[in-house]
Amino acid sequence: MPIREKSREEVIDAVVLQKNHYASGKTRPLEARKENLKKLASVLRENESNILKALHNDLNKSEREAYTTEIGILLEEISFTLKNLDSWVKPKKVKTAVTHIGSKGYRIPEPYGVSLIIAPWNYPVQLAISPLIGALAAGNTAIVKPSELTPHTSRVLSELFEGIFDKELIYIMEGGIETNQLLLDQPFDYIFFTGSVPVGKIVMEAASKRLIPVTLELGGKSPCIVHEDADLSLAAKRIAFGKLANSGQTCIAPDYLFVHRSAETKFIEEFKKAVHEFYGEEPLKSDQYGKIVNERHYNRLKSYLNDGEVIFGGGFNDQSLQIQPTMIRPNNNEVPVMTEEIFGPIFPMLTYDRLEEVKAFVASRPKPLALYLFTENDDVEKDITQNLSYGGGCINDTLMHIATPHLPFGGVGESGIGSYHGESSFSTFSHYKSVLKQTNLFDFSFKYPNSKNGLKILRRLLR
Ligand code: NAD
Repeated sequence: MPIREKSREEVIDAVVLQKNHYASGKTRPLEARKENLKKLASVLRENESNILKALHNDLNKSEREAYTTEIGILLEEISFTLKNLDSWVKPKKVKTAVTHIGSKGYRIPEPYGVSLIIAPWNYPVQLAISPLIGALAAGNTAIVKPSELTPHTSRVLSELFEGIFDKELIYIMEGGIETNQLLLDQPFDYIFFTGSVPVGKIVMEAASKRLIPVTLELGGKSPCIVHEDADLSLAAKRIAFGKLANSGQTCIAPDYLFVHRSAETKFIEEFKKAVHEFYGEEPLKSDQYGKIVNERHYNRLKSYLNDGEVIFGGGFNDQSLQIQPTMIRPNNNEVPVMTEEIFGPIFPMLTYDRLEEVKAFVASRPKPLALYLFTENDDVEKDITQNLSYGGGCINDTLMHIATPHLPFGGVGESGIGSYHGESSFSTFSHYKSVLKQTNLFDFSFKYPNSKNGLKILRRLLR
């Protein structure tokens, strides 16, 4: 089922159509935005089984995992947005400076206009639709480009939306790299990209030519630290959950482990136990365990098995493109499994004696998207959260910081620019216009040229 690339004309027409629709003003009224969001929720609810089937075909996602991470999370985000949109759209009054007495200042959110949302393949529904919620809530139109690597999901999304939404408002534009390159050549008002660091750089370069604002949700290597005082059984469970969801193909999955030397043996035992509890003795036969998206990524992951000593796991199946949950002790810190983003169920483990070693290692690498720390010690928690830079993360858990609308989600440095979720999705897709409303009841003359004592008063006020 190859995905057809779009022609230049098709891409230009789609953008012009949305530009005209945006200019008509129809996307702006609060009620229209709410209607669009409600329609979006019903598309997801009413077509749940088609979506789940496509996700199973593309990534062997179990119903539990697919519902939670691809549909449920979106329905929750839409409900939260609908509950709060009335207050988010209101102009925000700011304080008045002494120099501005008599006036009032406001920040008025306005939509950017026509937005482009580019999605990756690993959570192909969530990562295409979650930014769309923000785009619609803020009053924009959107062209959404799903990944060509999950073709069943891309097709199902495009068919569902075509029946429900006009392309002048939302256009799910199927296509691959060529289509994306054509899209990046268009005069969008905002670009929201989720994907890899190298493509993120291509997107930013294209956006810079027209000074289009961007959000870049990228990836990288997210460390997971297990300190000596951690509750090892609980930690192992929560880490196995985060590492093995979607077979490790999660941008915020713990990428590699740092375990305190005194906890190493017990932690490995507990981790094995958790894996067996979740996926049985033979995970490759479990209907809860996913597959690798394609042969290229499968072979890349298999090659990492040569980068160290396998502690457990290490098996694979060339037919089903699955790799067992695997823990390895890397040969050194420069092998590919320790320098490239893994994005699979292979877990390199390093040990440490002093927290300083961990901090120095993490600080020497690009700033991670996520960081997880397992400890009961408040000082250790403070030390890590205050002294290391990373997008976000959890203490004593994994992944869960992404699933609350109250925490903005995004990276820093090489792991991304900007954030979204909850109000942050609304503000990402809004420009806040700063407006000062002056009083006509009086007028300070000291600001005008040649006013008597003007400079003296100004010197007193402005210091
Ligand atoms: P990718 O960068 O290869 O592709 C993302 C999108 O860009 C796709 O729609 C694709 O068609 C397009 N694209 C690919 N190559 C292109 C090119 N040369 N020019 C123009 N467009 C191009 O990413 P992926 O493999 O789909 O996803 C995996 C990556 O995404 C990982 O690095 C992961 O960490 C990251 N990711 C980040 C988040 C986040 O929220 N921060 C979420 C999921 C995935």
